[in-house]
Amino acid sequence: MSPSTDRGTVEQFLRAVPDFPEPGIRFWDLTPVLADAEGLAATTRLLSEPVADAAVDVVVGIEARGFLLGAAVAQALGLGIVPVRKQGKLPAVAASRSYDLEYGSATLELPAGVLAAGTRALLVDDVLATGGTAAAASELVESCGAHVAALSVVLELPALSGRARLGDRPLHAVLER
Ligand code: AMP
Repeated sequence: MSPSTDRGTVEQFLRAVPDFPEPGIRFWDLTPVLADAEGLAATTRLLSEPVADAAVDVVVGIEARGFLLGAAVAQALGLGIVPVRKQGKLPAVAASRSYDLEYGSATLELPAGVLAAGTRALLVDDVLATGGTAAAASELVESCGAHVAALSVVLELPALSGRARLGDRPLHAVLER
């Protein structure tokens, strides 16, 4: 499928949920996209194809939708996946970072012993909003001496200027809203 056909497939299933999880927030819900076989295949192609030629050693999936997307991307690229998890979920932690969300705040943790120095990581998540999550995950990866080769997200919300939080780390967004 061409990228424009694949983008049309993703847009067809993408769902905007008003006032979730708080009044005034428009939540972009990928659940119907991922529940459809062609939606999942199109999303996986769109997230992985732009980085297929880049030197990437491992995928890092950001909790929780980044796990679903990241595992599919890792399979497509022939790579493994490392989860960046919310605080308290990992039995062995290499590093933690706290950050602000579009709504609230959170702490992310990187598992110990799975990301060697010099590894080139592709970070995957569903939505880039304020960029706090992606920036914190990037800092975790870099705190181990690994590199952020690129970040791939399905949806970027440019009005929230999240891209600016990422500095010169390459960001690939499938769609903007
Ligand atoms: P941020 O740190 O503000 O870039 O927020 C990104 C994280 O929060 C991602 O992991 C998203 O899953 C989630 N998120 C933030 N805003 C939204 C939104 N409007 N719709 C869906 N997910 C969102």
